[in-house]
Amino acid sequence: MAHGHMIPTVDMARLFSRNGVKSTIIMTPLNAPLFSKTIERESQLGIEIGIRQIKFPSVEVGLPEGCENVTSITSPEMSPNFYKAIDLLQQPLEQLLEKERPDCLVADFFIPWATEVAGKLGIPRLVFHGTSFFALSVYDSLFHQKPYKNIKSDSEDFIVPNLPDVIKLTRGQLPDHIREETENNVTKLIEKSLKSELTSYGVIVNSFHELEPAYSEHYRKVMGRKAWQIGPVSLCNRDNEDKAQRGNKASVDEQECLSWLDSKKPNTVLYVCFGSVSRFSTAQLFEIAMGLEASAQQFVWVVRKEKRNEDEEEDWMPKGFEKRMAGKGLIIRGWAPQLLILDHEAVGGFMTHCGWNSLLEGMTAGVPMVTWPLFAEQFYNEKLVTDVLRIGVGVGAQEWSRWTDDNKVSVKKEDVTKAVTQLVAGEEAEKMRSRAKVFQDMARRAVEEGGSSYSDLNAFIEELRLFWPLLCFVLFALALCL
Ligand code: UDP
Repeated sequence: MAHGHMIPTVDMARLFSRNGVKSTIIMTPLNAPLFSKTIERESQLGIEIGIRQIKFPSVEVGLPEGCENVTSITSPEMSPNFYKAIDLLQQPLEQLLEKERPDCLVADFFIPWATEVAGKLGIPRLVFHGTSFFALSVYDSLFHQKPYKNIKSDSEDFIVPNLPDVIKLTRGQLPDHIREETENNVTKLIEKSLKSELTSYGVIVNSFHELEPAYSEHYRKVMGRKAWQIGPVSLCNRDNEDKAQRGNKASVDEQECLSWLDSKKPNTVLYVCFGSVSRFSTAQLFEIAMGLEASAQQFVWVVRKEKRNEDEEEDWMPKGFEKRMAGKGLIIRGWAPQLLILDHEAVGGFMTHCGWNSLLEGMTAGVPMVTWPLFAEQFYNEKLVTDVLRIGVGVGAQEWSRWTDDNKVSVKKEDVTKAVTQLVAGEEAEKMRSRAKVFQDMARRAVEEGGSSYSDLNAFIEELRLFWPLLCFVLFALALCL
């Protein structure tokens, strides 16, 4: 129940259905309409995808009515209740599956009880991870080796052990549940989810082999998981309508946005977006504005800062900023048609919070990135981009933080300007751009007929097709032996 998980899940269901598997997506009432147009367009192409709804018990657990998505969690105190509500979905899901009788259940990593639910029906449960093999490998190493334990300060580097590359992090860049080593609802959820992953049938990952070959091998051989790589799933969105209406209604007119980009030369616009959940303080937004202006780059900047009322002054914006930036910078307040923007030839760089979907979408668009991780596994993903693939420049973010107070500035305007300038005109700029183009080609080839993700998807579907005949055969053979 977060855009970063629902969007790729829906794309994945579309891929299954396009490959002849009947897919049904289970959603809650306020999230389902976000995808109804996408599903309708698939059905116009003759591709059947069902949607079933389960009521989300927000009020029952003390959340406000309508709080059904992580974007509606506005304070740390709300999180435990949100997880409680997710747990309450177990019984209605069991009842629904009893009725629907699917052959297989694919459920997000953060729904640990899904393996048990599938087990009751005797069907395989697949785990869907909304992140990279790289991040999963880093997490596994941190979890088992705890290399941060004897480090003196939050800013001192340590090496993440037993990985294919030398990856350095600081304790300050780790999630607070790892750093503090206290048991809370997040640690309990992750522990349960990891256990449930180990007893599941296997794992589906939105990534492609050529992007992180050493880590997909590490995940399978060293960590011992059975996995299929079927991404980038966003590539199933081919026309502009699909790209523009993905996971939410855009806050900008699609044509207006395209005309603005059409008026720019290729590779001259920086796209700045920090995903669906993160929010910056007023003071930090002000620094970004000043930093972008000083960089003299053209930009599209997505700002998620609700006004309390129509007349409220936007105090995050430097005086006269929008006027000065007219024709040079486009500000989208709310939700941007991200795929549409990234895939436009005018866009030549992406400032991102390193959410996995955004990174993959940036890669498939072939643009180098300015990385600005904030929380979740974003600091690990940053290392993949800057240190392993070498297609990005870090803005210098040092501190993992899910919540921010309104005066906090963690990255100064000079650092924003410096990173943007390095991305477009630094010593490595051209090399980064050409490496990014190589990954773009690889990503596109991976999902084409005969490509690595195409083959993995087909192998997965084929294995499931054989699952039932094979199970019947084994049971029959066992019966004979008895
Ligand atoms: N997204 C979008 N418009 C926005 C913000 C986000 O289309 O204004 C999409 C983006 O393309 C991606 C997803 O929302 O598919 C965000 O997922 P990601 O993993 O990048 O970050 P999260 O939101 O989970 O932090």
